[in-house]
Amino acid sequence: MAVRLYVDQDLCISCGACVGICPEVFDWNDDEKAHVIVDPVPEDLEDDALEAQESCPTEAILDKE
Ligand code: SF4
Repeated sequence: MAVRLYVDQDLCISCGACVGICPEVFDWNDDEKAHVIVDPVPEDLEDDALEAQESCPTEAILDKE
């Protein structure tokens, strides 16, 4: 099943972990919060994206239903 993620903007504290681990999937938006730039996540980036998700200190990276 495809990996589809989003960043809860209220939970993101702009720590940069996700952007550092997987810049192909996470980038900064105009509010200086992280957001997902590819949806669904390409298969070859799934491992990195999930590592970024697990590394988020506020668990702001959530699975899209
Ligand atoms: Fe925001 Fe979490 Fe990414 Fe840090 S790891 S920038 S808190 S979404």
